[in-house]
Amino acid sequence: MTLDLTALLRERVRDVPDYPRPGVVFKDITPLLADHVAFAGAVDAIVAHRGRGTIDKVVGIEARGFIIAAPVAYHFGAGFVPMRKQGKLPSATFQAAYALEYGEAVLEVHQDALAPGDRVLIVDDVLATGGTVAAAAGLVRRAGAIVSGASVLLELTFLGGRERLPDVAVHSLLAY
Ligand code: AMP
Repeated sequence: MTLDLTALLRERVRDVPDYPRPGVVFKDITPLLADHVAFAGAVDAIVAHRGRGTIDKVVGIEARGFIIAAPVAYHFGAGFVPMRKQGKLPSATFQAAYALEYGEAVLEVHQDALAPGDRVLIVDDVLATGGTVAAAAGLVRRAGAIVSGASVLLELTFLGGRERLPDVAVHSLLAY
């Protein structure tokens, strides 16, 4: 029997209406992470899409992105680099401000975390409007590294994130 990974992943993403505020349907990936077949399948699918030997560093976006990016980096034989919210990284950082639905946020990466020419994969849980991945891609390029692509567990296509990222090869395992 072959496993229908897409169906399994879809079953393991829980919709939480009106979280964190009214009108938003939050895509809760904790049931997916708690199922070892789904979690391992998602990690393996991300690695298989790019191929081993094609990535030098995997960037994970705080906080759920870290959970997925770390095992992806391990399987690539690549380094893991955290991108964090403002004020969390201890050494000198590059910073990028980006728009949220209400207000702005700042994403940071250590200045010495990426080397010029590094081939970088950006990993997060959800692609919504694309603002977070756009900011992450800007930070990778600021460090002189190359954005090889962005991989997410799921994409909210009705928010148009992919269109906002014409220069990033976006790969998602699930589309809503
Ligand atoms: P965006 O910058 O609009 O693409 O938003 C992506 C970031 O916000 C990701 O780091 C997600 O974790 C989070 N996010 C946005 N919308 C949702 C949602 N409906 N459910 C879960 N996470 C979301």
